[in-house]
Amino acid sequence: MTELLSNFLGGHWQTGRGAGTPLIDPVLGNELVRVDATGLDLKAGFAFAREQGGAALRALTYRERAGMLAAAVKVLQASRDTYYEIATANSGTVKNDSAVDIDGGIFTLGTYAKLGESLGDRHFLLDGEAARLGKDPLFQSQHVLVPTRGVALFINAFNFPGWGLWEKAAPALLSGVPVIVKPATATAWLTQRMVKDVVDAGIFPPGALSVVCGSSAGLMDELQPFDVVSFTGSAETAALIRSHPAVAQRFVRVNIEADSVNSAVLLPDAVPGSEAFDLLAKEVVREMTVKSGQKCTAIRRIFVTEASYGAAAQAISARLAKTTVGNPRNESVRMGALVNRAQLVSVRAGLDHLKQQAETLHDGATHALVDADPALACCVGPTLLGTRHPQGSDGADRVHDTEVFGPVATLLVYRDTAHALALVRRGQGSLVASLYGSDPQTLAATALQLADSHGRVHVISPDVAQLHTGHGNVMPQSLHGGPGRAGGGEELGGLRALGFYHRRSAVQASTAVLAGLSGPAQ
Ligand code: NAP
Repeated sequence: MTELLSNFLGGHWQTGRGAGTPLIDPVLGNELVRVDATGLDLKAGFAFAREQGGAALRALTYRERAGMLAAAVKVLQASRDTYYEIATANSGTVKNDSAVDIDGGIFTLGTYAKLGESLGDRHFLLDGEAARLGKDPLFQSQHVLVPTRGVALFINAFNFPGWGLWEKAAPALLSGVPVIVKPATATAWLTQRMVKDVVDAGIFPPGALSVVCGSSAGLMDELQPFDVVSFTGSAETAALIRSHPAVAQRFVRVNIEADSVNSAVLLPDAVPGSEAFDLLAKEVVREMTVKSGQKCTAIRRIFVTEASYGAAAQAISARLAKTTVGNPRNESVRMGALVNRAQLVSVRAGLDHLKQQAETLHDGATHALVDADPALACCVGPTLLGTRHPQGSDGADRVHDTEVFGPVATLLVYRDTAHALALVRRGQGSLVASLYGSDPQTLAATALQLADSHGRVHVISPDVAQLHTGHGNVMPQSLHGGPGRAGGGEELGGLRALGFYHRRSAVQASTAVLAGLSGPAQ
């Protein structure tokens, strides 16, 4: 029997009473550890976090809490090697892909430590200036932001067990709100280990950081009106969260990051042979292959003109053909595995679904696996699909609706920019779209056209070829989330992220009373 991972709830480590769900190495097929949450006293655990953890965090200033985030960064940095080993075994990712999750998470935490420092020794935030409420300036309204007196429950997806934890926990803890994280079962190990290292280092007050691994059963039932829940995962589970009585009847604040059919658009001026054209081809391949395409921000749809279709298909396919797929422990491998067999089955089914409306431009099945048994390993080569007729792309509705969560993207032809934008919008709202071209004015105007339906518009012109942060890379300074189908959520965006964990209130009072809100000891 493998180790049964402990849960940290109610201020102490405790194992579930059940036999546990095994976590499996997706390349070798062996069992790694087990997780279980059966029999945990969730009510007491949530109350402990809410009352003990919340009160202790709120007693600190933003600067003090920022110092704790910085201390957590040091603890995590010291154990990076362990995290990489866990990621290789449990997520089947090559080193570069594990880095996106592990170092990306630590970087995000560090960014919030610095941002928090800038907020100083305060216990709440002022929101804007005081506003006069009448002719006489003596009676005014000042908006304040105070930390909510509840817990933040995180229900996370399997693809980012490290980053997914810290990108949410950093702004919550900085805000003074205790965190209970429930990682996706398939990859819960890394989340559990990171929480364990930080808890064991005694950085945060008791109750500030808890982890429950295993089933989600009962977690949502514990939520009370001042708690918040932040969910990342599939649209189907998101619908369950939204309709849960905690949200529908107790009005718990909810943030949803769901799936998204993201786009990349090659503008008409970026003809084959231009720098912008090459940048698109390079980025598409990176997006398709990083973490085997298991990134919520990955490019799924690529829009090009009829004149560029053949050259784009060739350029992307040529790069994809060089991608070695297989065991991430082998140095020559560039792309590891999907997270488990269920995902492998789901990716294959999604591919079949899309193939009925598209041609195969590069077939993932042509990639022989390196150092991995095809009967056992959950590895799949990258596949580029395409449809070259404008009518075809208008009619190929599946590509706009289907997120194949793997190394799969589809090349689509547009007639003119207005047509391209209309096709992009058929994704019903996405996390990110990227634009490739060289004319700043056209790029700026097109970016604005996409801003209402995308949380982020990533614009690539030759002058930023070496500088840009990548279509799918979520930077803590920029907003993450998207409207519509993407879930309607907002995360990160620098200090904007703190808004979710604070309550806004308008204090109406005399100027003298309001002056007391701005004092240094607040
Ligand atoms: P999922 O199956 O929806 O699971 C997400 C989380 O919800 C897991 O922790 C899961 O726990 C939990 N869960 C399942 N049923 C639940 C229920 N009835 N009540 C409460 N929680 C429940 O998603 P996934 O397969 O892990 O992740 C892949 C999806 O996430 C993709 O569609 C991807 O696009 C999306 N994603 C979005 C973002 C973003 O930021 N927008 C980021 C990453 C991933 P168990 O694992 O124990 O079932």
